[in-house]
Amino acid sequence: MSFSYVKENLEEIQKNIEQACLRSGRHPNDITLVAVTKTIEADVMNASIDYGVQVIGENRVQEIRRKFDEVNDNVSWHQIGHLQTNKVKYIVDKVDMIHSVDSVRLAKEISDKAGKHQRIIDVLIQVNVASEAQKFGITESDLPGILEEVSKMPSVQVKGLMLIAPFAEDPETVRPIFRRMKEIFDSTKNSNYDNVEMKYLSMGMSGDYVIAIEEGANMVRIGSGIFGLRTY
Ligand SMILES: *Cc1c(COP(=O)(O)O)cnc(C)c1O
Repeated sequence: MSFSYVKENLEEIQKNIEQACLRSGRHPNDITLVAVTKTIEADVMNASIDYGVQVIGENRVQEIRRKFDEVNDNVSWHQIGHLQTNKVKYIVDKVDMIHSVDSVRLAKEISDKAGKHQRIIDVLIQVNVASEAQKFGITESDLPGILEEVSKMPSVQVKGLMLIAPFAEDPETVRPIFRRMKEIFDSTKNSNYDNVEMKYLSMGMSGDYVIAIEEGANMVRIGSGIFGLRTY
């Protein structure tokens, strides 16, 4: 079966990333593409890896467990969606990064379980800049406190921040939110917390990744733009 549409989509996205980088004085090599593979089967995932995908993102623990053994080894798995504390044990031996840490309790569970596997898991703290009631993520004012606590945990390493922007028909309307998030990222970086590295700013999805990169994202999570439209 041919998955050449995946190859074409990836090429198109790469071009858009390069152009967004040109416009904002960045280098395309500094942008990490996370290919979001929720509801996508292992054969398509493996084709995308052949076409150059190096990082895949899943939002459900169940899907990681189901597909992990069928997917080629030469890829890094990221948990990008909300993670329940009681499910951490199922993925802590499989994922290299968890983007959705939104409580001290969750971070502690990740550290405890990772330690048992002699692993250190990279985590991003999910911040809810838009303060939407329905969304996960901590508020900006809770960020210093959570960084303080998580930085003491032995088997998690904070590597940055993550944002899920509100959905908008016109992605320009979320530009101020990306911009605000970059300010928070930079000021956190300048605060020099011990054992906290502000390396990755994970924001931008299929509809708005170009704007996210223009505003400072260096990790984008793209699903439908690569694998085609589907219902979640
Ligand atoms: C599904 C998902 C994405 C990708 O969304 P697309 O619009 O398909 O690109 C990114 N981040 C998270 C957390 C997701 O759940």
